[in-house]
Amino acid sequence: MGDNRRQCRICPVHDENAIYLDYNATTPIDRRVRQCMMPFLSHAFGNPSSGNHSFGRETADAVELARYHVAQLVHASPNEIFFTSCATESINLAVKGLAYSGQAAGKTIVTTAAEHEAVLATCRQLEDRLQVTFLSVTRSGSIDLLGVTYRVPRGRTLLVSLMWANNEIGTIYPIREAAEIAHRSGALFFTDATQAVGKIPVNVRASGVDLMAFSAHKLYGPKGVGALFVRGGRSEIKLQPLLAGGRQEQGLRGGTLNVPGIVGFGEACRIAKMEMSEEASRTSRLRGLLEERLRSLPNVIINGDGQSRLPNTSNLRFLGVDAPTLIREMGNVAVSTGSACSSQSGSPSHVLKAIGMCDSCTCSSIRFSLGRFTTEQEVNVTVQKVATAVPKLRATTRQSGPGPHAKPASVG
Ligand code: PLP
Repeated sequence: MGDNRRQCRICPVHDENAIYLDYNATTPIDRRVRQCMMPFLSHAFGNPSSGNHSFGRETADAVELARYHVAQLVHASPNEIFFTSCATESINLAVKGLAYSGQAAGKTIVTTAAEHEAVLATCRQLEDRLQVTFLSVTRSGSIDLLGVTYRVPRGRTLLVSLMWANNEIGTIYPIREAAEIAHRSGALFFTDATQAVGKIPVNVRASGVDLMAFSAHKLYGPKGVGALFVRGGRSEIKLQPLLAGGRQEQGLRGGTLNVPGIVGFGEACRIAKMEMSEEASRTSRLRGLLEERLRSLPNVIINGDGQSRLPNTSNLRFLGVDAPTLIREMGNVAVSTGSACSSQSGSPSHVLKAIGMCDSCTCSSIRFSLGRFTTEQEVNVTVQKVATAVPKLRATTRQSGPGPHAKPASVG
C-alpha cells in the first residue's frame, strides 16, 4: 500500500507491515481521490438540489462533473448514470425496479448460481411474483452460451442477469454474447460489473448491456456510493423507484446526494480511465509471480478459469490445508477465503461450490486479490509465509488426521 497509506495522517494505521491482498473486498481510497473530496467535507457543503443559491449550485456542478467522469469510464452518457449508495442498492434497483414496473407477470429472470449474493438474494426475493432460473456454471466458472440460449424462453424472459466478472475466482464472462441472447429472446440484459469496472475495459455500448451496477469502493473511491447505468436514461427502460421521496436522480432515486462520495467516485473513475491499462499489466505480472512461486509447492491448484480472468485475482486451492488455519499462520497478510459477504455466513463459498468443488476443497481455498499499491516485495513476503506454513500444516494434518474443517474466515 506504500505511499497511499503513509501520506494519510488521519486514519489509524494498525500495522505498518501489514500486507493487503484483499482488493476485491474493498480498496483503500487513493490519496488523489481523498484530496478531491476534502472541500466537500468542509466549506462546499451545499445541497445540490438547492439550485437557487451558490452553495447548492457549486455542489450540483461537482456532482455533474463526477457523473461525466463515471460515464466516460464505461462509455455511457451522463444522463444514463444514476447515483446510489452501493452496488447492492444498484442491483436491487435494476432487478426489483424492473420486476415492480408492471412487466413481470408470467415472466422469468435468468441468472447464474455464481452471481454475488446481492443478485442471488434479490432474485430469490422476487420468486413469489415471477420465475427465477439459476443457471449452473462450468468447472472453470464460466457459462455455456448454447445452454443459456435454451434456458432463456423467447417472449417470456424479463431479464437475463450475468455478472461481468466474478469476485471470488475472477472469471470474466462473455457479456456481449449473453446480451445478444437476451435481446434475441426479447429480454433486457443486466450485469453486475462491480468487480470489472476500473480493472478491465467496460464499454456499455459495445457490449449491449441495458442495465449495469457498480461501486466506488472497488476502484479506490469511497464507500457508500454506487451507480446504476440505465440505457437511454429514464425514458427508455421503465424502472419503479425503490425509495419514495425526492426527485433526485431524475426521480429514480430520491434522497439528498452523497456529494463527497460522488465527487470521490468521479475522481476515482477519471484516474482509472487514465491508469487502468498500465495497472492491469502490473497487477497481472505480480499475480503471475505469486502463482508461479506458490504453484511450485506440491498440490496447489488455480480455482476457476486460468485464462479469462481479472488481472488481479488468484483463487488458489492448497490441497490438504485448512484455509482459515493457513490465513492465521500468514499473520499480517490480509487475504480472503472466498467473498467478505459469504464469510459472515460462515458457509463454504457458493461460487466454489457452483464450479463443482466439495466442501473440503472450498475450505482449502484462498483468494489473493492484488491492487494499485501491491509491491513485488509484498508478494515475496507472502510467498515466503505461505511456503513456510503449508508444509507445516500438511505435516500436522498427516499426524493428527484430517479434523473437521473450520468455518471459512472471510470473502466481497
Ligand atoms: N457484486 C459484486 C461482484 C461484488 O464483489 C460486491 C462486493 O463485494 C457487490 C456486488 C456488492 O457491492 P457493494 O459493497 O458496493 O454493495
